[in-house]
Parts: sequence; C-alpha cells; structure tokens
Amino acid sequence: MSYVDEVLAKVKTKNASEPEFLQAVEEVLNSLRPVIDANEELYRKEAVLERITEPDRQFMFRVPWVDDKGQVQVNRGFRVQFNNSIGPYKGGLRLHPSVNLGIIKFLGFEQIFKNSLTSLPIGGGKGGSDFDPKGKSDREVMAFCQSFMTELCKYIGADTDVPAGDIGTGAREIGYMFGQYKKIRSVYEGVLTGKGLSYGGSLVRTEATGYGLLYLTKEMLKCNAKDIAGKTIAVSGAGNVAIYAIQKAQQMGAKPVTCSDSTGWIYDSEGIDVALLKEIKEVKRARLTEYAAARSSAEYHEGKGVWSVKCDVALPCATQNELDLEDAKQLVANGCIAVAEGANMPTTLEATKYLQENGVLFAPGKAANAGGVATSALEMSQNSERLSWSFEEVDSKLESIMVNIFHNLDDAAKRYNVAGDYVAGANIAGFEKVVEAMLAQGVC
Ligand code: NDP
Repeated sequence: MSYVDEVLAKVKTKNASEPEFLQAVEEVLNSLRPVIDANEELYRKEAVLERITEPDRQFMFRVPWVDDKGQVQVNRGFRVQFNNSIGPYKGGLRLHPSVNLGIIKFLGFEQIFKNSLTSLPIGGGKGGSDFDPKGKSDREVMAFCQSFMTELCKYIGADTDVPAGDIGTGAREIGYMFGQYKKIRSVYEGVLTGKGLSYGGSLVRTEATGYGLLYLTKEMLKCNAKDIAGKTIAVSGAGNVAIYAIQKAQQMGAKPVTCSDSTGWIYDSEGIDVALLKEIKEVKRARLTEYAAARSSAEYHEGKGVWSVKCDVALPCATQNELDLEDAKQLVANGCIAVAEGANMPTTLEATKYLQENGVLFAPGKAANAGGVATSALEMSQNSERLSWSFEEVDSKLESIMVNIFHNLDDAAKRYNVAGDYVAGANIAGFEKVVEAMLAQGVC
C-alpha cells in the first residue's frame, strides 16, 4: 500500500465522525501524491503525513452567557492549533450553528497550506463556536464574545496564536473579543486581526479576501490568454467575501450578476449594485428580498440557484460544499471558463474533478481566498512596528502577494507534471515549505 493510502486509512479510522475533515485530508493528500511518491522513504520514516494530519493541540470549552431575558445560554467554543512550523497559529473564528470540531479541524488543516502559500510567516489554526449571532442583540453578542474570550485568552497571544474573523465574526465581534482579552491579560498587543482602524486594524483588511480573489482570478485568466474585463460573473454569498469580490470585479470591468444568502438568491441583469448590497447586508443586516424590492432589474429566488445562471466565471463565496456535481454540470453546459473559490472548500470533490476534466480553470480556496489571511499578517506586521500603512501600500502588497501565489502554484504544478492542475499546485507549493520547516525542527 502506498504511504498516502496507508495514512488516509489511519486518518479515516481515527476521525470517523468528522466528514469535512476527512474530505479535506483526502483532497490534499491525493493531490500531493507526486511529491510524496518522490520522497516516500524519508517522509514515511519521519512520519510527515501522520504529523501534519494531527493538530498540535485542540481546545473545546463551555461558553456560558446570559440572554436578554435573563436566561443562561451555553454554547461550545473551539480552537484548534494545527501546525506552527512556519509561524504563530493564524486562522479565523467561525460563529455559526453548524460549527463542530470536524469543521474547525478541516478549516485549520486547510489553513496550514493557505498560510504557507502567502509566503508570510504564519502557521495554521482555526476556531469558533456553535453560537449564532443572527437575531441576537448587540448586548447578547457582547456577552457571548466576552465569555468566549475569557477562556480563549489562555491559549492565544501575539506570538502564539492570532485569531481573526470568519463567518459570523465581523468587526463588531472582534472588537468585543479584543476588549475582553485586553482586560483579562492587561496587554495591548496584536492578538486578533480584523480589528477596527482606531485600535490597530489595517486598511484593506475588510476588502482583502474579495479583492485578493479577483487579483488571483485575473492573473489566472491572463496566464491562460483570457481577460477578466467584459466577463459575466456569478457570485454566491452576500457577506464580506462576496461583497468585495463583486466590488473589485466591477472595478476590473467585469459584470457580476448574482449574489445569495442562506435563504435565497438574486439575479440582477444590470449587474449587482454594490452600494445597495452593502447597505442591506452591512448596515441593516437584512435579507436579500430587500435588494429585489429596491431594484427593478433584480429578480429574487428562494433557495439555491446561483450556478444555473449563464456566466463566464463563477466565484463561490458563501460556505463549504455549496457547489456540487449538478451545479458543475450546469456551469460547464453554460460555457463557464473559470471557477475561483472565495469560500473555504465550497466545491465538492466530484464537482472539482468534473470542472477540471472539462477544461474549466479552477483556483482552489486555499490560494484564491488567501488575501484575507495575507492582509491579516500585514496587520500583524504593522502592529509589531506600531505603524499604519496607507490603503494603497497595503493594497499593492496584497495584489503582489496574490499574483505570486498564482505563479507559485502554477510553477509547482508544472514541476510535478500536472500543469494546469491548480489544486495540486496549491497543495504542493504550500506543503513543501511546511515540510521543510518541520524536518529542520526535528521530531516535535
Ligand atoms: P459572512 O458571514 O460575511 O458571509 C457568508 C455569506 O454566505 C452570507 O451571505 C451567508 O448568508 C451565506 N451563507 C452562509 N452559510 C450558508 C449556507 N449554508 N447556504 C447558503 N448561504 C450561506 O462570511 P464571509 O464572507 O467572511 O465568509 C464566506 C466564506 O469565505 C467562508 O467559507 C469563509 O470561511 C471564507 N473565508 C472568509 C475570509 C474572510 O476574510 N472573511 C477569508 C478566507 C475565507 P446568511 O447571511 O443568510 O447566513
């Protein structure tokens, strides 16, 4: 049995109840076969794959808080510190009812390679809770965040583990968590990223993931003799990543025509009105029905359906496994030429395979959405320097990081004779650096 198959079997036995984690490990290890086969003896002796698929440590804790009726509520908190071979753990905090240990582990595992790809010194971690900020008052969100941080603060620090936002954790939540960390630990340090500009945040962090997605997509198209300008784009999601992806796509001369949330989706034949979308989602925190009500060119549809729209480029920016095989078939039938993942693992394994087999350029999330964490690392640098860089300075660093990421994964794919397979290229490029650091640091 090959080393990859041996480790996959062990990982399946040990983590049988964590399907998302198993999916991520399977995808990564399968695409790493060319590198692993070439170094099998060394990697087996050093147990490289067993080590990289087992988190350094994971914390799971009770988060009690009091709601507006005086009722005590209890949620579950998580932080998985996966691998710090190349720098302090870094990865977001997801607040969503679906959160469980398997989801946090899948995200933490992916984060190792994504962070490595940015070429910045950050390791992989992830955390969150099954708390749902939706429909809660500000006071309730603050009560939850304070209780969550009261426990989390024992495990994190500016040089240890630096969490950030993710689904459900935006500027408001980061602010409450930062305040509680500062109060308990009595230190003012860059322990979280995605902070407000008045207390150590970085310009461009809000826009970074969506903008970065477009910088990478544009480069991928350019290197395949195609131009982003004039392309029709289908986007899913209507949160942080989706909004700024839509904005940057428009700045590049493309036309995004869809967005979605967990209840329905919008098709706007005139192109999405970003200002209206921001008002509805960022200010009013309302549903997309309000968008359709305010704009005559827009249609609102219940449920799922973004991928049925004819488009040149698809950007899934909502959540994991939101683009399945049927969706992939529709995209191909409609002439889609490229898919770039703004969300983490939004495309199922079968859909990814189908897209690649049908000649669709496919940029995996760990590369395409790395702009968020890259700018978080730039926020850490600014905090350490006690300086703030201008919007243009951060944005131009972000753009060159994303362009470099694309070339790194393109080169890695070519080196291992899988040219054009950007999934393999991203995994290989991310993996090589982490493994080199792991081996240099001995058995630890
Ligand atoms: P937000 O919470 O801001 O937005 C998420 C969007 O996706 C919302 O419109 C939400 O709708 C929708 N959504 C969530 N779950 C579902 C679902 N099950 N079905 C359909 N729609 C859904 O999150 P972000 O934009 O920050 O994150 C989106 C994705 O990008 C996630 O996978 C995240 O891990 C990834 N990512 C985010 C980064 C960042 O910097 N923000 C960095 C890298 C990756 P509703 O409001 O109705 O729930």
